[in-house]
Amino acid sequence: MPHSPPTAAPRQPAVYRSGDVREAVLNARRAGQRVGLVPTMGSLHEGHLSLLRAARDECDLVIASIFVNPTQFGPQEDFLAYPRNFDGDLALLATTGCNMVFAPTEETMYGPNHSTFVEVGPVGQVLEGEFRPTHFRGVATVVLKLFELVPADVAYFGRKDYQQTIVLRRMIEDLNLPFKMRVCPTLREPDGLAMSSRNVYLSPHERRRALALFRSLRLAEQLARDGERQVQTIRQKMEREIAETGGIDLQYVAFVADGTVSPVEQIEGPTTVALAAKVGTTRLIDNLLIQPLTPNR
Ligand code: AMP
Repeated sequence: MPHSPPTAAPRQPAVYRSGDVREAVLNARRAGQRVGLVPTMGSLHEGHLSLLRAARDECDLVIASIFVNPTQFGPQEDFLAYPRNFDGDLALLATTGCNMVFAPTEETMYGPNHSTFVEVGPVGQVLEGEFRPTHFRGVATVVLKLFELVPADVAYFGRKDYQQTIVLRRMIEDLNLPFKMRVCPTLREPDGLAMSSRNVYLSPHERRRALALFRSLRLAEQLARDGERQVQTIRQKMEREIAETGGIDLQYVAFVADGTVSPVEQIEGPTTVALAAKVGTTRLIDNLLIQPLTPNR
């Protein structure tokens, strides 16, 4: 009887904990390899893995970084409680063909006298910035440090964190960083909830309630498709949808020209609707790109 060939176990990525990773990346680039970096805070889910697969498709060498960055959490936020699952992450990364993992120690990233930060300016002060005033300076600082330590060709980010992509694009341009940036679509659970490492905090009851966020974004999309252009009208209907569900503390619903954080009053072109809300103690963000019925010319 012929035996079926043994299926090859997925190859474990090489793990780096310190700045040694830089030499490994530079060696790959000197050998002509195109290198892709996927920065994450771990506790990986399919949304993260979709970025890794996008990198796999375009690059010869794929590196994921895993680092729960303390400087992007506010003093009252969930840094200590943030879910961590390094072994599970490694097993998932192996299934994507990821070649290296950079999981720096906290000392590698922030020495005891660390005091230098990237100040991102106005793009980081609105929307999320109003509720998390030091968030984007922490994000920009850690991403710049990751770019130094992992000098890849391309970095992959998710549209799920819409404002983050705007802030990082600004930083790449302002600081002449030699990185290409790719933004990949938001992955959702089958019922529409945007995948997030923080979803594990939700009780079953809260998780059902949280679906109102995506429902309200879909409502905005539908209203715009039906020809409604007034942001005020759409926002009110979204707020009603969320209020009727109950148990959701909506922090903001913003309508911005897509690719910016500039608010619009009318849907006249591609518009991103971004929102943040607390469901119980869990803070969730989501967004959707909507289009007017017929774009203005
Ligand atoms: P995090 O680990 O939350 O810092 O996320 C790491 C990267 O994964 C960021 O670029 C996120 O935007 C991206 N990401 C997180 N959730 C999703 C999702 N549901 N779909 C696509 N990308 C995501």
